[in-house]
Amino acid sequence: MNAPRTTGWLMILALAALLAAAPSLTRAGPGPDAPGLQAPEHAGIGRAVELLVYPGIPVDQVRLTWLGRTFQVPVETDGEKPVARILLGTDVLYEKPGDFGVRVAVPETGVRLEHKIRFGSREFPVQRLTLPPEMATPPPEMIPRIKRERRAVGAALRTWSSERLWSLPLTQPVRGRVSTIYGVRRFINGLPRNPHRGMDLAAPGGTPIKACAPGRVILVADHYYAGRCVYLDHGLGVVSMYFHLKEPGVREGQVVDAGEIVGLVGSSGRVTGPHLHFGISVLGRLVDPAPLFNNPGSG
Ligand SMILES: [Zn+2]
Repeated sequence: MNAPRTTGWLMILALAALLAAAPSLTRAGPGPDAPGLQAPEHAGIGRAVELLVYPGIPVDQVRLTWLGRTFQVPVETDGEKPVARILLGTDVLYEKPGDFGVRVAVPETGVRLEHKIRFGSREFPVQRLTLPPEMATPPPEMIPRIKRERRAVGAALRTWSSERLWSLPLTQPVRGRVSTIYGVRRFINGLPRNPHRGMDLAAPGGTPIKACAPGRVILVADHYYAGRCVYLDHGLGVVSMYFHLKEPGVREGQVVDAGEIVGLVGSSGRVTGPHLHFGISVLGRLVDPAPLFNNPGSG
């Protein structure tokens, strides 16, 4: 009398186990997966998006073309299926809202993939500052220094190292209120300046600043505008920057982990009070860092 009931339950359990196992059986099935890519179709101008490329078979790298430049992006094979993972972004200084195409080629298989991302317009606040004329315009004898520093920064932002050290979300460099967001349109003494291409985090002078991701220190300097500054290379064209430090806590060539202290908040450079200016460059484009954190400002 008991036997049929037990058998019935066993059958139901077996069926449930089969159903539960079915999706993973499909994923783990033999044969290559179809190549494909995954990225958002819409983002705001100045934002970064993550692109995943699935070459279908374990190849070393894929070739990616973005904003007229081509990069060899390594394929990671330690996960469920081979994938190349990269950040792409636009910069409010250089790009206007519109459609941007990304092309990917898998040289070993001849596969070509394309994707279009619409970077839509955003309303950015306007900030008007009045400064003493000597602070608003650098003295003529500073111009060669400023040009030299711009070249050093340009070289840092063009860094390409082929190991991905970053992952999302990034680690918040300091706890603190976001005092100036990315994209703010600035007028100093009535004259338009470059938009604000980073985020300012309010924090008392001396607050330790954490590396936003594992990386390598590629530039430590004392620049006219940025003051004492640190640049970290996180791989695949992602560079983070920390400005107006009281003092840097790292040296060039040093390797740091996410959360490791890279310096202290200060007010060096052209600023009116202590804060951290934090910037992120993605393939040479300064993007809005805020969406790359879980909850910007809260730490
Ligand atoms: Zn700033």
